[in-house]
This record gives sequence, structure tokens and C-alpha cells, in this order.
Amino acid sequence: MIDSYKHKGMRRRLVKILMEKGIRDKAVLNAVEKVPRHYFFDNALLAHAYQDKAFPIGEGQTISQPFTVAYQTEKLVISPGDKVLEVGTGSGYQACVLLEIGAKVYTIEYNKVLYHRTRKFLPTMGYQPHFFQGDGSKGLPRHAPFDKIIVTAGAPSIPASLVQQLKPGGIMIIPVGDHKRQKMLRLTKVTDKKIKRETFEYFSFVPLLGEEGWK
Ligand code: SAM
Repeated sequence: MIDSYKHKGMRRRLVKILMEKGIRDKAVLNAVEKVPRHYFFDNALLAHAYQDKAFPIGEGQTISQPFTVAYQTEKLVISPGDKVLEVGTGSGYQACVLLEIGAKVYTIEYNKVLYHRTRKFLPTMGYQPHFFQGDGSKGLPRHAPFDKIIVTAGAPSIPASLVQQLKPGGIMIIPVGDHKRQKMLRLTKVTDKKIKRETFEYFSFVPLLGEEGWK
């Protein structure tokens, strides 16, 4: 795996595109500039690695579009040391961005093939989140509570277990809607009984499966 000047230049161009699309958080932009996204692609597909596009990673799943990754990460307002649950490990790219910002990342993937592939691959790039396999719509009760939760698949409704596993003051970002499109929601657990809810743009994610997802 080689990260050349050419690749770094391609990443700087990608960061410029994200800034033009409205991403402002310096830590997020720096993280995108650092993570070698082309490592997730076959050599023949290099041209795709730094386009602002989602891309198939097998098993009917995708590596998220860089804008979507940056958008969700920015909305989480991560501080270094935050304990973050990611639901939907997929390729692991989002987890790398979170790690670059200094988060402690707990990431869970439903699909066993992807889980094994990503768990093996990410450490070869020098990234080491805590990996789990299972139904992330129910969160990770044994490791809760979390400062932040990011759901990277489209949910039919807000999973109650995930809200429960947020610390007071914690933030969750989750796309909620039907199979076609989902509205990005940000929930802030102001106190155990009070949840602040903000709604943002529409996105199109693969479905969140599982008990508190699309069954
Ligand atoms: N974050 C990923 C990345 O950076 O490449 C992209 C995630 S992809 C858009 C959505 C992922 O969510 C898929 O890998 C899918 O298998 C996974 N998924 C769907 N339902 C899930 C569930 N209940 N628990 C955990 N993962 C789930």
C-alpha cells in the first residue's frame, strides 16, 4: 500500500470539494485529508477513490460518500477521547475518520463477511477500533454508555436501545425514513428524560437491519 504525493494531492482536492459543499469543521477536514481512502479500492479503481461518491464494497453494501461521512462526523461535534459507537462498520472508512479525530471507536457490523474482512484489513492500515459483529440496532449494552452514536444505515424509526445507551449530554446522528430516502436526525440527550431533536437534509442509505431496524 503506497500513499504517494499524487494520492495526497487527490485527497486535498477532495477536501476542497467538501469545503465547497459546506463542511467547515477543521478536525473533520484534516481527518479526511489523512485517511488514505484509495487503500479501500483495487488499484484499477483508483480514479473512484477520491471522487465524492459512494462505492460498492461487496455483499450489496457500500463505502459511504466522503461528503456523507464528513457531514455525519461534523454533526457529532467530536472531542478527542469521546467514546463513539458506530453502527454499520462496512468498509471501516468512517471508523478511520473518527479515529483520526481522536475518538475511541466501538464499531459493530451485522454482515459477517464484511465484519471479518474489515477487522483484518483496518489494522494493516494502522487503525484499531474495537470491532463487534451483531445487530447494532440494539447497540452494545455491555459497553454503554457512549458520548456519541453514529448510525450509518437508514433506520425506519429511532431505535430506543440506542437512545438509552447515550450518556446525558450525548449526541446521536441517524438517518431515518423509508427505503428510498431518509432524513438526517440529530438527537441530543439533554437529560435522561429530555431529548432535543434536530432534522437536516435527506440522504439515501442502505437499510439498517435487525430487531430495531428493518426486520
Ligand atoms: N460506515 C461504513 C463505511 O465507512 O464504509 C458504511 C456503512 S454502509 C453504508 C452500512 C452498513 O451497515 C453495511 O455494512 C450494513 O451491513 C450495516 N448494517 C445494516 N444493519 C446493521 C445492523 N443492524 N447492525 C450493524 N450493522 C448493520
